[in-house]
This record gives sequence, C-alpha cells and structure tokens, in this order.
Amino acid sequence: MTAELACFEAKCRARFAVTDVIYNCPRCGGLLEAVYPDRHVDAAALKRTWRERRLSNAPLDQSGVWRYREAIPFLDGTDRIITLKEGNTPLLEAPGAASYAGLDALTFKHQGFNPTGSFKDNGMTCGVAQALRLGMQRVACVSTGNTSASMAAYASAAGLQPIVFIPHGNISFGKLAQALEYGARTLQVEANFDQILALVRVLAERLGIYLLNSINPFRIEGQKTIIVEMMDQRDWRPPDWIVLPGGNLGNTSAFGKALREMREMGLIGKTPRLAVIQAEGAAPFHELWRSADRAALRAVEHPETLATAIKIGDPVSWPKALFEVLSSNGVVEQVSEQEIADAKAQIGRCGIGCEPASAATLAGIRKLRAAGTMGAGDDVVAVLTGNLLKDPDYIYGYHTDGLTAPGGGKLRSTFGNRPVMAPNDAQRIAELLES
Ligand SMILES: *Cc1c(COP(=O)(O)O)cnc(C)c1O
Repeated sequence: MTAELACFEAKCRARFAVTDVIYNCPRCGGLLEAVYPDRHVDAAALKRTWRERRLSNAPLDQSGVWRYREAIPFLDGTDRIITLKEGNTPLLEAPGAASYAGLDALTFKHQGFNPTGSFKDNGMTCGVAQALRLGMQRVACVSTGNTSASMAAYASAAGLQPIVFIPHGNISFGKLAQALEYGARTLQVEANFDQILALVRVLAERLGIYLLNSINPFRIEGQKTIIVEMMDQRDWRPPDWIVLPGGNLGNTSAFGKALREMREMGLIGKTPRLAVIQAEGAAPFHELWRSADRAALRAVEHPETLATAIKIGDPVSWPKALFEVLSSNGVVEQVSEQEIADAKAQIGRCGIGCEPASAATLAGIRKLRAAGTMGAGDDVVAVLTGNLLKDPDYIYGYHTDGLTAPGGGKLRSTFGNRPVMAPNDAQRIAELLES
C-alpha cells in the first residue's frame, strides 16, 4: 500500500512523500491530505475482518481506530502505534431529544466516551503514531482545550514530550487540568493564537518538534474512523443525516473524506448529508455558506460563545469542509447560546449528557426540522463530541440561573434543575418530595 501527502487545492494537487515533515503544501500553501493511490479492497471481506476483530484481544483490534486500519493505511507497519483503546464509542437512542427536536427518532454517536473525553483521541493516536515514525521526540499544539488534553495523554503514553502553548488570558481549566496531569510542559505566551502558531513553527524546525494542530492530516485520518465505526455499528446502513458541531472544521473534513472513501471502496451505497452547526457568535463558516459565491471565508475577529470548543473565528480547514458539505449535499446552520444551553439540558434529561459544543447538534436539528430541511421521519445521527464533565461550571450556572451569555445578557434556565435546601426532618422532606 502506498500512502502519499497531496495538496487539497484542486488547481495544485502536488504530491509529497508521506514522511515529509510539512504542514501545508510547500508549493501553494494549501491544506494537505493523506491519499492512497493504489488502494483496492474487497468490501465484503473487509467488513468481515473488521467485525471479527471485535472478538480479538489484540490491543490494536480493541482500538476503535486501529481496528479499521485498512481505512487509514498511512503507516508502513503497526509496531509504533500507541493506543489507549480510543473509539469504541456507543450509539445511543434518545427518544426525549428526538421529540424535543421534532424527530420520530434520534441517535447520538457519543465521542465523549473516549479515553480523554472527546473525539480528539481518535485523531491523536494517529498523529502520535506519525510522530513516532518520523523519529520525533517532542510534539506540540496551541490549544487550551480538548486537543491539548488528548495530545498530552497520547504523547506521554508514547514516551514523547508533550508541549502545550496557551494564548494569553485564554484558559479553560477543566481541559488544562488534564494536560497538566498527563505531563504536558505548558507554556503561557503573551500573544494571540496566530502569533503563537507562527512562533511554534519556527521552534518546531529548530528543536525537532512535531506539530499536532488540527490541520495535521494524520489526525484527520484518525477522525475518519468515527464514521467508519458508526457505519459498522449500523451494519452499513447509512443514515440520512450526520450532524456535528463546527469549530476549526477538521472533523467536518474528516467525516466527508470518510464518506467519500467508503463510497469509493464500496462499503456504503449512499452518502448521508452532513449538517454542520456553529454557534452564532463564532459562525464564519455559516456566513460563508450563506454568501453568494462561497469564495473566501471572512474570519470573525472576536469569536464569542460559551461553547469554547467551537469558539473559533478563523477555521483553518474551511476549504476542505466546504468541499465536503457540498459533496454530501449537506447544510450549515447556526444556533444561539440559549438554543445550545436548552438543547444541552435536554440531552442531559435523556441520561446522556455532553459538553456545550456537542449540544449545538440537537439545537441545530431542531432548527432544521422547524425549517422543513429535515423530515420528522429522517434517520439522523448526531455526533456528541465531548464529555459532560469537561465543563461543570456551565452546567451549574445553567441550572441555577447563573449563566451569562458572552455579550452580557443572562440566559434563561428553561429546563433548570436547581438544588433545594431541605431541613434535617424526615416529615418535611417527605412532604417536599410529595409536593
Ligand atoms: C474540537 C472540538 C469541536 C470542534 O471540532 P472541529 O474539528 O474543530 O470543527 C467540537 N466539540 C468538541 C467537544 C471539540 O473538542
């Protein structure tokens, strides 16, 4: 199997060795993707192999990423793979959320069940495998969120030094705490995201640091397996829709690539439509989608949303994401802070729960249903990207009328569930519970 890096730009498509340490096309600056020029598969045999591996105790077969290694064959061997048994995330039926959105049924694919609590693990096991293959000793990312938590875990498990760069005054404590615990060297720099990225690129060459930011094409390969695993779990019945939140749009790119490649390999016969949901205060991709020519994304200078995982003003992967949404006949929608907060509480009431960015999916579905874009009987899978416990402050705030939107307006505690003070008295507590 040959693997190469290819420039994603249609007018360039330059090819490079899969072991070149490049993050953008050296010719035109475009995004890069992994391609497999001579891949031929027997779809039925592959489905059988993947199903049989679920019974195997071999570590790689127990990973919900590497079980599908034929779908992501960028390595030339399996000996340098570090797995924390990522993937293996459940499909959960959520009748309550379905009726809230106006659907007959709704399934969540819950990526919050991953080792560090988000879908970033699916990609990170691949990014770290590539770092090991390249002989790197250190890996780095600029992030305060789930990427740094995931990178820290996988790098430390692999014996690599994780380095997390944090833009000044931009700390998300729940996720940063994970990075610290997993042993990341954490550097707070007095600069904004873009300035730090430029800095890290200079340092990367000088110190032999491998960058694991979201444009890393090997992370995208790993995230493809979210969709491969979902199809396997559904016995290869594609849904009508796959709904996901959009931030930097790496996941949108990965899902679209997975769908196209599965079609090409004969694993599925129809392509589900992608629905990408953004938060109103950080919705440059939605803006692009609504523009007449969809020619260039205009960055949002000060993105604002309490859903910090999608608080991105200048999403790097937008050219790929736009291509994938168009290829899948998909849509892009935006939702308000209130809609996200209420949808999140509804997902919680199903006994499922998620972090705020993930709840944009249900809020978006509700809006797409109301507009008639989705039908009540449509078969919909929404991807919950992160774990409920990533952001407990938000939850407590919502349920106790203490959540303030970024602009300063107070959010309604529509489905609030406030703790109640109770006296130390059985009779009075009994009365309270009966009332
Ligand atoms: C990273 C992340 C997102 C956004 O994904 P992109 O690939 O950047 O669009 C959404 N939700 C959670 C929980 C995340 O960690």
